[in-house]
Amino acid sequence: MTSVSPRDTGIADGPSSTVEAYQSAILSEIRPLAPVSRDFADAEGCVLAEDVTAAVSLPSFDNSSMDGYAVTAEDVAGAANSSPVRLRVTGEIAAGDIGAYRLVPGTAIKIMTGAQLPAGADAVVPVEWTDDGIATVEIYRAAEVGNAVRYAGGDAVAGETLLTAGVRMRPMQIAVAASAGRKTVSVRPRPRVVVLSTGDELTEPGTPLVPGRIWDSNSYMIAACAREAGAVATRRAAVPDDPAGVLPALQEQLSHADILITTGGVSMGGEHDVVKAALRELGTVTFRKVAMQPGMPQGFGVIGKDRVPIFTLPGNPVSAYVSFQLFVRPAIAALQGTSDLSLPTVQASLTAPVHSPPSRRSYLRGVLDGSKVTPLSGQGSHQIAALGRANALIIVPEWETQLPEGDTVDVLILPLPFTLLPLITFGGSAVPLATARRQTGTTRRSFPVSGCRGSEFTAATRTSGAASPALLSAADKLSRRLARSVSCSSSTSAATPRGVCVTR
Ligand code: AMP
Ligand code: MG
Repeated sequence: MTSVSPRDTGIADGPSSTVEAYQSAILSEIRPLAPVSRDFADAEGCVLAEDVTAAVSLPSFDNSSMDGYAVTAEDVAGAANSSPVRLRVTGEIAAGDIGAYRLVPGTAIKIMTGAQLPAGADAVVPVEWTDDGIATVEIYRAAEVGNAVRYAGGDAVAGETLLTAGVRMRPMQIAVAASAGRKTVSVRPRPRVVVLSTGDELTEPGTPLVPGRIWDSNSYMIAACAREAGAVATRRAAVPDDPAGVLPALQEQLSHADILITTGGVSMGGEHDVVKAALRELGTVTFRKVAMQPGMPQGFGVIGKDRVPIFTLPGNPVSAYVSFQLFVRPAIAALQGTSDLSLPTVQASLTAPVHSPPSRRSYLRGVLDGSKVTPLSGQGSHQIAALGRANALIIVPEWETQLPEGDTVDVLILPLPFTLLPLITFGGSAVPLATARRQTGTTRRSFPVSGCRGSEFTAATRTSGAASPALLSAADKLSRRLARSVSCSSSTSAATPRGVCVTR
């Protein structure tokens, strides 16, 4: 194993650090994983390391968007209920039919959705406007040129960039890669995270507990946090408080970890702080106090010849959880060359007073509901029951020791297991699209989009979540951010505003 000096970690030993300084020091150490070639279907959760362009125009041929009859608009120009146009049906074209068809003027060809438009036809009459005839068809409505026709290149033209490097591959992007004609894509893979908890007191959940012992919850929680952040996470059996055993246990994991995470054993000065004792020897991991609560004792550095980043999180479960969200989650994104995992912050008013230690930033567990946030009772860093009820962290700045009810605070929204809802922003807040439509005829909220002269952009947000007002407000924020960052292609500069999916 190559040993590097503490200076190499970019994090100097120091008595105390702010949250931001610690976050920056960590991120300055993270190098994105090398791109790999993946089958596009296996790339979900990976981050694109190349642009994906359309191999052919999309669609690649003119086709029908409805089941109906291919005709010439001229032949059906006079069609009406009172004066139907009757045409002879000369054939039928199904989706996938690769035959070359030609429409003879004065006739119709039955056509299915997605089927090639026959040469000579310039419109499709939907079956609903006809008597659905077989040998002949009676048409009751005129169809204009292009009616129900999807022209070649109407979605994208050959060579157009459909996905840009840095985009996370979600189901939509996988569909785009498939439609672009790709078999493989170059991506930064999901980071592999290995979690080890330490402590003589740890007992495997599901086995009997004897007095003096606790069930290990940290390793399961942190592995789940890592998965929630898109990593491939595994946990190892808890490591006892044996200074000689910790380093070998960690080294064993190095070959299959992009990040190592330990919990426990890094308190301030305890003689059982085996993680600290074992890693200090290496000189590549630095321990420091971060001016926050919970989660003051932190350690970060690199380990092994491949300089695998290692986080040593505090043992108390709430401290470990908060530390993960603030420090490890951004590092997981950085390994994939992105910063798209940061948790949204909103402002809310306190429904009860809160207290905080001097000169430390508190992250209090709370329940955010609309514009109000309620601090939970049970703010001890061991109080996992309250953590289980929280959906947000209330931030009390370093310079405050108490805040009264009604004060406005910043609130960090925790990753939430929501279902998908299409939302749209308007009138200053985000609401579900359907509600917006009901409430007003105007469901558009316009954002200036750089590079789009005179065009409007409606940022609809697809967030993962029950439409709680808190979520809606977060969605609003995301929409604005997204609208600002959207680059304008010819298709997005069209007069019709388009929705955008925010993916996390
Ligand atoms: P430590 O950081 O090792 O001093 O642990 C601080 C507190 O966290 C102690 O009360 C430990 O029992 C508790 N703790 C440590 N590891 C875990 C774990 N894996 N699961 C639950 N609690 C833990
Ligand atoms: Mg311990």
